[in-house]
Amino acid sequence: MTKAIVAGVEVDTRHFIGGERVESAETFPDHSPIDGAFLADIHRGGKREVDMAMAAAKAAFPIWSKMTPQERGVILHRVADLVEERIEELSIVETTDNGSLLRSHRRGVMPRVAMNFRFFADYAMNQLSYPDFDTRGHRNHVTWDPTGVVGVITPWNAPLMLATWRIGPALAAGDTVVAKPPEWTPLTASLLADITVEAGMPPGVFNVVQGYGEEAGAALTSHPDLSRISFTGSVPTAKLVARAAADNLVPCSFELGGKSPLIITDDADLDIAVTVAVEQYDNAGQVCLSGTRILVQRGIADAFKAAFIEKAQQIKQGDPRDLETDIGPQVHPDHFARVKGFVDRAASEGQNIVMGGGPNADLGGNFFKPTLIDNPTPGSEIATQEVFGPVLVMQQFDTDEQAIQMANDTEFGLAAVLICGDKARAEAITEHLVAGTVWVNCFFVRDLGAPFGGSKKSGIGREGGIWSFDFYADVKNTVFAPNGWKE
Ligand code: NAD
Repeated sequence: MTKAIVAGVEVDTRHFIGGERVESAETFPDHSPIDGAFLADIHRGGKREVDMAMAAAKAAFPIWSKMTPQERGVILHRVADLVEERIEELSIVETTDNGSLLRSHRRGVMPRVAMNFRFFADYAMNQLSYPDFDTRGHRNHVTWDPTGVVGVITPWNAPLMLATWRIGPALAAGDTVVAKPPEWTPLTASLLADITVEAGMPPGVFNVVQGYGEEAGAALTSHPDLSRISFTGSVPTAKLVARAAADNLVPCSFELGGKSPLIITDDADLDIAVTVAVEQYDNAGQVCLSGTRILVQRGIADAFKAAFIEKAQQIKQGDPRDLETDIGPQVHPDHFARVKGFVDRAASEGQNIVMGGGPNADLGGNFFKPTLIDNPTPGSEIATQEVFGPVLVMQQFDTDEQAIQMANDTEFGLAAVLICGDKARAEAITEHLVAGTVWVNCFFVRDLGAPFGGSKKSGIGREGGIWSFDFYADVKNTVFAPNGWKE
């Protein structure tokens, strides 16, 4: 089988290499997390397919890299336009494949996918410059040169959005790309491949190899011809990728996990605090940035907890295709079991589960109830490890110094959220937070021009705006002497 009809949309289940569809001898099944329905048999790539894709991407590099940013921009804009034209198809396929909300895809996620191409194409055209400067009459001229073939490996929680956040700037920088989509959610990457053909992208500039992480992923990250590896996923996998990259000395950009703090001070606007805290259950908790450790000041802890539970209990869990639904299922039975394992172990340790705590029996399958654990033992698994499900813990603090100490007392540093009623106090607290992104009285607002990434174990490097180009390009300084010219 080379094609599947998913939610009424035809999806090619093969790889996309050098502008052609390529088959493998074996396939792997893809199911919907909503109801377990079989969706497609996906071609299972490994070293053979990765080698083919790398050769195609290498061959396309001289063509793509020699085009001007304007010429590439025309094609990348067409990709963005086609994504926008196909928001319905992309949204329903993504929802069916990974269980996230159809309404979010339509309104926010897929428009953002289009922006990932348009924004970085425009940036390369208009903003990628640095003023020449002088050293004793010598002119220093800085350029951002294409590097070669970028390997892009991404996870399942927002498949097309996370992939294109890396693919968009890499292509805009003049690099070619081999992408390995997540095996639990392989479908929208294949639709993107169709879109690049229609947009007129030269064959081999963008390639997709489907497959398992330990097969296709490992073959890609250990490939000697890569110029960059862009990896989004978990810390244990990042360590494997880093080892593979070390053998070839390939620079890596890592966007990894988190256990981010959400600090609520006693002068905070309670409505904002409750709204932002409940938002941490979005995407059924499968969001790397989630503020899963609520740190609330003791004086308002009881009032906050009561208001939070009241609002959280109104979350409508159900079929993500239903526009009234607020959160859907966990992405896969294995991930559901992982989330349940964390909560079951917390229960057996005697941790205080004040809301949720188990599967949603009304829905069955992969649906896990929004869960709150109050005052977990400091240092316990549930208080320190990333669950990546709808599971929050709540702890109390007395002073701002203590809040900062608790917030930073983690191996992660992806994000931090502060809800605070006093500007000077907020500035004093945020100054000491160790995180790639800090939100004050808000959550998730993010500009593509801003730096994004994680501190400590949450990542290596920053992307967004100029930071993306500093990674996907070779930044070069050319020094022109004042003499030696034949007039
Ligand atoms: P994962 O590390 O298991 O998998 C991520 C990707 O790596 C998948 O495509 C997988 O196939 C591939 N992979 C697996 N083994 C590999 C190997 N040996 N070599 C090369 N590739 C391999 O992560 P996941 O469970 O899919 O995603 C969840 C994690 O991703 C969480 O920790 C979450 O916080 C993190 N995440 C981070 C961000 C961010 O921007 N910082 C965004 C989303 C998710």
